[in-house]
Amino acid sequence: GTSHVVMPNANCDEIGSSGAALEWLLREYDLERGLAACEFVPFFQPIVMIEDRSIAGFEALARWRHPERGLVPPSEFIDLGERCGLIRHIDLAIIAEACRLLRQATPVGATPFLSVNLSAQHFTDFGVVASLSKILSDTGFDPAHLKVELTETALVQDPRKAHEVLTQIKGLGVTIALDDFGTGYSSLSYLHSFPFDVLKIDQSFVRQLGKPGRTHDIVETIIMLANRMGMLVVAEGIETPDLIPPLQQLGCTFGQGYHYSRPVPASELAGLLAR
Ligand code: C2E
Ligand code: MG
Ligand code: MG
Ligand code: MG
Repeated sequence: GTSHVVMPNANCDEIGSSGAALEWLLREYDLERGLAACEFVPFFQPIVMIEDRSIAGFEALARWRHPERGLVPPSEFIDLGERCGLIRHIDLAIIAEACRLLRQATPVGATPFLSVNLSAQHFTDFGVVASLSKILSDTGFDPAHLKVELTETALVQDPRKAHEVLTQIKGLGVTIALDDFGTGYSSLSYLHSFPFDVLKIDQSFVRQLGKPGRTHDIVETIIMLANRMGMLVVAEGIETPDLIPPLQQLGCTFGQGYHYSRPVPASELAGLLAR
């Protein structure tokens, strides 16, 4: 037809920026569509007892099964979800599905825990407490086997509020893990003022173990401090077996990493548990 929209040349800059805005809008729209279509699924990565490699639990890690893009990793949608406020819905969808799937795959008597990630945005109000409570009752998942992972980012904006939200989550019988320790603010005062049950040492630290340098001493001190304060320690990102003796010697109970297993789809859970 004759209805072409012709942009005048003088508006080139505007076309550029509105193109970027349109791109964002389309990505946000696609995210919303994907959520409605239940395209966000949890993968499960074992968290093992370093001592004997037995599986103690799993971390649920979000993946987007996109109809055109295939399996999309979190690095490509968490930021977007945080910008447009959909991250809370993604988190809750992953948690609900992970509780359901792990319960389904677990033989009677076995009790692996489930560790789930909560974005910082959940710590500005109490909505997450009711949502978690509903997920627990809907799925019949034992709260004592659920761990909520958060990073220090969740604490800095409004520490008082975050403390209240965490206390209420613990009131459900759920335990709390501080994720990526060593990468953020890592203020020691957080360790002592918030009710963490588990400390997850970031992979960037874990990789330095056994290498010359001061990182070894830092990791050793973190593990000793955590143990002293009654927290369990998980070493993240264990890719090679040479890290295991130093971690054991330092008193680290749990490990997670490609050396043990990559994150796997729910269909592989039963096989891992039977191993
Ligand atoms: P995270 O919570 O620290 O999760 C651990 C990340 O390290 C995962 O990446 C995992 O696949 C990866 N990893 C595990 N072992 C190894 C290893 O040996 N070597 C290396 N190089 N990497 C290893 P993934 O699944 O890509 O997730 C990245 C981040 O995205 C997570 O880091 C977490 O911050 C975020 N995320 C994932 N799922 C969710 C979710 O459901 N909600 C929210 N809010 N964030 C999520
Ligand atoms: Mg995590
Ligand atoms: Mg982590
Ligand atoms: Mg991380």
